[in-house]
Amino acid sequence: KQTNGHEPEFLQAVQEVAEAVIPYIEGKEKYKGTKILERMVEPERVIMFRVQWVDDNGEIQVNRGYRVQMNSAIGPYKGGLRFHPSVNLSILKFLAFEQVFKNSLTTLPMGGGKGGSDFNPKGKSDVEIMRFCQAFMSELFRHIGPDTDVPAGDIGVGGREIGYLFGMYKKLRNEFTGVLTGKGRTWGGSLIRPEATGYGNVYFAQSMLETRGESFDGKTVTVSGSGNVAQYAVEKATQFGAKVVTMSDSSGFIHDADGIDADKLAFIMELKNVKRGRIKEYLDKYPSATYHEGERPWSVACDVALPCATQNELNGEEAQTLIDNGCICVSEGANMPSTPEAIEVFLNNKILFAPGKASNAGGVATSGLEMTQNSLRYSWTREEVDKKLKEIMKDIHAACEEYGKDENGFIDYVKGANIAGFVKVADAMIAQGVI
Ligand code: NDP
Repeated sequence: KQTNGHEPEFLQAVQEVAEAVIPYIEGKEKYKGTKILERMVEPERVIMFRVQWVDDNGEIQVNRGYRVQMNSAIGPYKGGLRFHPSVNLSILKFLAFEQVFKNSLTTLPMGGGKGGSDFNPKGKSDVEIMRFCQAFMSELFRHIGPDTDVPAGDIGVGGREIGYLFGMYKKLRNEFTGVLTGKGRTWGGSLIRPEATGYGNVYFAQSMLETRGESFDGKTVTVSGSGNVAQYAVEKATQFGAKVVTMSDSSGFIHDADGIDADKLAFIMELKNVKRGRIKEYLDKYPSATYHEGERPWSVACDVALPCATQNELNGEEAQTLIDNGCICVSEGANMPSTPEAIEVFLNNKILFAPGKASNAGGVATSGLEMTQNSLRYSWTREEVDKKLKEIMKDIHAACEEYGKDENGFIDYVKGANIAGFVKVADAMIAQGVI
């Protein structure tokens, strides 16, 4: 659409879905005249607001806050908040649009949304983070609620930020409800939620590998990112017998040919989550590794690649390098990390490729389980939640197979995920009428 011409990330996400869905709906009686895709690409509501706060020097700061409420056909809006200087409406609309399909795939009753701010958390003191979160929530609180819209974390929003946001919501509303997910264990959070996206991605990749009689055991794995998703993807892949040789941040990547084992990962978790340092500091402790400033890890030979940092972090050329080096499986932990050119390379070479809306859905699925536990005022054990997560990832894999398998047995997970996610939401919208 002309009006969305200045929203490249959003158009990219819509194009991918449209290419899968249009051939599927064409000629089907139930979709005739429903304009269903045109209706789905328009957000139900977009909220933009001023966030003003005072920094440690007593200076007033102004940021922009957003919440894109994309689709509520099958449940309350649900999706994360991102705090990063690159945040704009195009990025949040792409993320909210993807979220609609992903949430539908989880089999749980959740609509899609996304929000955040162009606030840069890097270098801010803990008190500044708290003040910003409070200022952000002092507007957002009037638009969300446990039955309306339930935000969660994303880039730049982890357990600490969710705590400050929740505290402010509770104070303003004078009620203790499950309005946010990713909460701390003692105040309504779910076990396994921090691990869920990374673990879920590895569970999904494991299901893909099984279709070719393979497993993670003995495989060499490259991972990008060193945040929440990357950390737990590394943990689970290692537990499954793989050797993970790379991690990265926005400054560069580290390559440890001996593998990032549990002790080394514990060092990275402390470095990134507590000290909030840079990945290159890994070499201070493990000098046999190498650091590559300003580069991404896709030149390193691997069997499986797990991009877990951000959108458009793996291009067509890098995809070809991965294939040339023998990579057989790419499973996206981040949202839309592969460019359209990279996806084309993966599909043309018939490797196992999972789009994030299928393979990283474990995070929001476990957020859905957190919502259920909050409604029940009950808490499941670690084993119970992990079991449900595994079942959900298996179900998502089965749904992709149902809609994406061709006559030669090749599974196009992009097509499968898009159609499977679409059908449920489209049918619910049609049933609910033109409202
Ligand atoms: P974190 O903030 O915990 O970590 C993000 C990681 O990506 C950091 O290593 C960061 O490096 C790096 N990164 C961020 N922006 C860029 C950039 N522009 N270029 C290169 N590297 C970058 O976020 P999460 O781990 O939660 O999220 C990672 C991805 O996974 C995102 O795409 C998110 O949308 C997606 N996702 C997350 C879910 C979750 O449950 N957390 C659920 C589903 C998807 P640095 O430290 O330098 O900023």
